[in-house]
Amino acid sequence: MPHLSSPRINAVNDRMSDIRSVKTYQPPHHATSIFQAVTTIGSLLACYAALFMGISHHIYAVLLLLPIASGLAIRTFTLQHDCGHGSLFRSAVVNHHVGRLCSLFTLTPYDHWRRHHAIHHGDWNDIDSRRRISDIYSDCTTVYEYYKMSPVERIVYRIFKNPIISIFIIPPIIFFIVYRITFDAPRSWGVHVTNLCLLLLYGGLAYHFGVATTVLLAFGVVYPAAVIGVALFLVQHKFEGVHWERSENWNAFEAALTGCSFLRLPG
Ligand SMILES: [Zn+2]
Repeated sequence: MPHLSSPRINAVNDRMSDIRSVKTYQPPHHATSIFQAVTTIGSLLACYAALFMGISHHIYAVLLLLPIASGLAIRTFTLQHDCGHGSLFRSAVVNHHVGRLCSLFTLTPYDHWRRHHAIHHGDWNDIDSRRRISDIYSDCTTVYEYYKMSPVERIVYRIFKNPIISIFIIPPIIFFIVYRITFDAPRSWGVHVTNLCLLLLYGGLAYHFGVATTVLLAFGVVYPAAVIGVALFLVQHKFEGVHWERSENWNAFEAALTGCSFLRLPG
């Protein structure tokens, strides 16, 4: 009879019990999902409608509504994220349709982003699998690698890590410009479809309300959302004590628990 209590077996048993305890929370609760999707997207639509109607004569209302709409746009992105993981609704078809609907407000092509995000989850905080351009905010450079850089490389590194550049300048470039481009065609049809839908939606608004109004409002809502959303993603992945692992020891469960932070936000 083999002895069934070694540190390795105990670690596996602990992990299995962790996985079982998490499984309880995996099935979506439909009433909550529908409530979240309807109130978030519905409120964002109402904000946009009020903004477009009131821009010319109620500037204070506009200034009050813009941050609310930005907050709702961030929330819309989190719903799109959950749809991408197939976790907001039980039906894959419903997840995909709601995710694509969200992409009209987040300017993020759902199918394209979903594929890249799955790759991100497949090896995040694996130190042997880095340097993907789509993972610039969850990547890392070791101290040893930094010291090996030439003076010019260090300056370039520090410029891109500067918060002014990384939080306030790069995110809007990603959401407004980079997400419009198909980097890995031919599997990027979703980018073209999203671009076409955005052109019809915002083009129609520009035709009706004017280009300046549409650009100003879309930028006023999406810019703060992009900045805050990326900042949240950044602090989720980069913090003191974050764990990185070699490929041979890496597993998704431990990466999720030790490779991302938990933010205690106020109510
Ligand atoms: Zn995710």
